[in-house]
Amino acid sequence: MVGYQGEEKLSVVNGFEPVIGLEVHAQLATDTKIFCSCRSSYGEPPNTLTCPVCLGLPGALPVLNKKAVEFAMRMILATGGQIQPRSVFARKNYFYPDLPKGYQISQFDKPVGLDGVIKYRLESGEEKVCRLIRIHLEEDAGKSLHPEAGEAYTRVDLNRCGTPLIEIVAHADIRSPQEAYAYLLKLKQILQYTGVCTGDMEKGHLRCDANVSVRPEGQEKFGTRTEVKNMNSFKGVERALNYEITRQIELIRSGGSVTQATLLWDEKRGVAEMMRTKEESHDYRYFPEPDLVNLVVSHDWMEEVRRNLPELPDARAERFVSAYGIREYDAQVLTATRDLADYYEEVVTHAGDPKAASNWVQTELLGVINAAGENIATYKVRPNMLGELISKIGSGELSGKMAKIVFEEMTVSGRKAGEIIKEKGLVQISDDTAILKIIDEILAASPDNVAKYRSGKTNVFGFFVGQVMKATKGQANPEMVNKLLKEKLDG
Ligand code: ADP
Ligand code: MG
Ligand code: ZN
Repeated sequence: MVGYQGEEKLSVVNGFEPVIGLEVHAQLATDTKIFCSCRSSYGEPPNTLTCPVCLGLPGALPVLNKKAVEFAMRMILATGGQIQPRSVFARKNYFYPDLPKGYQISQFDKPVGLDGVIKYRLESGEEKVCRLIRIHLEEDAGKSLHPEAGEAYTRVDLNRCGTPLIEIVAHADIRSPQEAYAYLLKLKQILQYTGVCTGDMEKGHLRCDANVSVRPEGQEKFGTRTEVKNMNSFKGVERALNYEITRQIELIRSGGSVTQATLLWDEKRGVAEMMRTKEESHDYRYFPEPDLVNLVVSHDWMEEVRRNLPELPDARAERFVSAYGIREYDAQVLTATRDLADYYEEVVTHAGDPKAASNWVQTELLGVINAAGENIATYKVRPNMLGELISKIGSGELSGKMAKIVFEEMTVSGRKAGEIIKEKGLVQISDDTAILKIIDEILAASPDNVAKYRSGKTNVFGFFVGQVMKATKGQANPEMVNKLLKEKLDG
């Protein structure tokens, strides 16, 4: 078993400390591409979303999409970075079959955003901060569809050419694959809350390149890094980093040294293999894009974007704690996504009891949604329906147990609580006289047990409760049954 070893840092392996710096590409959720009016959409038939601009035909000129800039600005502000009043697009030149222009329009030495931080939390609850270096705008390339069984050729789909991206480049502040995983979760959460990106890694809307090196514990200077690409899930990033850290440590311990290189992660085989020795930025022959003017962001525009920024996840979780009196942990869970947080707040307005709403949403609702792979934003049990059900527990109309039966039925039929209650005749008996009448009958039928109770064998109390619940088909209000029974037997 690998346990916590005294004073040693948890991230240190065999005396070596990993150092990780992540570069994340996020596809912006704009309707159209960054430099032309083609629709930006995933899953369309190949090469149907193209025009002379995104095909790079001679003479075609790019026009910058304002919405893409606004999305980049939102993310810069959401992470506490500095929007640059003037930034510059640059050509990054390289050959690739899915890059018809022979260059990608990106930003180089004058990006639109500098600095900022991502504050994230590990599973243990420990809080971490990773500083950002820059956030810049760029266009995506097309896609090569490599041959599947029986096919002879690689085909090229240029629909993705010119899709707007931001690249979020972080300082090498991360010290373990687990931290990298938690950082990515938080980054995705902020991207989703700000509406900048869906965060869908399977669709390639979010891509992460992981730079990693190791250094002897206590050494300040970073070791030589490699860059691992091609992971298609956050867990994949964690696995790839684990693999590469182990490889680097073993290499150094056996007397070798790490060569700076780009590696491709193979998820199926669980290995990262050398793709190319690392290119340097001068290999790309960057120069200012002559077809675009500088990007100038006015103070007014910056302020407008700042004003329209939605409430961010950390602020929302804090508000949940103070406004609804729920625990911090629960607030974290309920703000994991904007849809879930919206759902919860709507339940609260109808339920009248924020704590009960928190429990129901986290256990019952998320239970079914996760098991069925449903989407909370479109799930048939709408928040007003769940809220109404919870309010019926508060008012004494339903017991918790009965409410669960009603909820189960709601998840099957999508009908409202009121209808189900009526149909099933599920009405909680909270009327003194009715319950007392049943208690009298039951006590009269078991004089010997009554005598036992009164002689001090109070454990027969449970027997009486059971009898009353049975006689009422579980519909008697359990608290009242307990109270009234006690009064009868003791009095
Ligand atoms: P490039 O532009 O060549 O990719 P950068 O210097 O901009 O290189 O760094 C890219 C990423 O690599 C950043 O996220 C940075 O934090 C990270 N990084 C740089 N040096 C190291 C290192 N020695 N170990 C781990 N990560 C590193
Ligand atoms: Mg890089
Ligand atoms: Zn186009």
